Amino acid sequence: MELIDGNAISRAILDEIKAEVAALSGPPPSVTFVRVGEDPASVFYVGKKQKVAAELGIESRLQTFPESVTREELLGFIDQLNADPGVHGILVQAPLPDHISEREVFNRVHPDKDVDGFNATNVGRLCQEDPSAFVSCTPAGIIELLQRSGVETSGKNAVVVGRSLIVGKPAALLLVMKAATGNATVTIAHSRTDDLAAVCRQADILVAAIGRAGLITADMVKEGAVVIDVGINRVDDATKKKGYRIVGDVDFDAVAPKCRAITPVPGGVGPMTVAMLMKNTLSAYKRQQA
Ligand code: NAD
Repeated sequence: MELIDGNAISRAILDEIKAEVAALSGPPPSVTFVRVGEDPASVFYVGKKQKVAAELGIESRLQTFPESVTREELLGFIDQLNADPGVHGILVQAPLPDHISEREVFNRVHPDKDVDGFNATNVGRLCQEDPSAFVSCTPAGIIELLQRSGVETSGKNAVVVGRSLIVGKPAALLLVMKAATGNATVTIAHSRTDDLAAVCRQADILVAAIGRAGLITADMVKEGAVVIDVGINRVDDATKKKGYRIVGDVDFDAVAPKCRAITPVPGGVGPMTVAMLMKNTLSAYKRQQA
């Protein structure tokens, strides 16, 4: 069994980006994060992304709004960022308060600055297999993990469990894409799938993007499968200082011995998401310089 090391692979990608940024002349690539409210996970994720950006020489700015921000104020601010030539990438951190439509906000971001890839134009471009698409960072990171670990996707059965806009659907689109990194036969499973275990057992490549700790058990995994665990779940653990630990959607200890390769949680898909965000930011910068 090979452990797919997302920390090492993301480090290699970040080093490539850092070298490219260092070689640029003029003002650096710049990304603006927009955060609404003080959701602790959002505060943590934006902080992490800013730290990595700084390390790569990418400028990042943070604009925060209170939970009470109006739809008009938020959309107005996005319009300002869209019009600002000094802003190459825009990322609106989800979740947003209930009175604001995430879809409307994501769709307001200019497609060429949409480094998260959630905008309808970029999702459409991905469907069209248009290389100019900004692809959602987590699924893009999954493909990089597979590619850099030498996992062949062409002709393989891939099962993606989860159908979200952010992970499941774009992961499936990438895996089915007519490309060396795709060409898989893809099934998307979800909460209404009948006999999930039987569907998962068909997978040569199993992507779990569910958000339920340990839902994927050993009986659901074929011998020799490659398993990509996207889940980030907190489980109580009195032995930890924080009182919890982070686990994936896969029952790692039981599943790993059956696998050809598997990603750990933490240290698998997570660090790749941030690396792909930096890659998208550099691409956005280059596109706007052209
Ligand atoms: P989501 O809640 O939007 O989607 C979850 C999907 O799982 C849904 O499509 C649902 O149909 C499916 N599902 C729920 N219960 C199921 C069940 N019992 N059987 C089969 N399918 C079921 O979540 P998301 O945004 O796609 O995120 C999924 C997980 O990945 C979460 O744990 C999230 O924290 C994590 N995540 C990790 C990263 C990362 O960087 N590693 C990035 C994004 C999301």
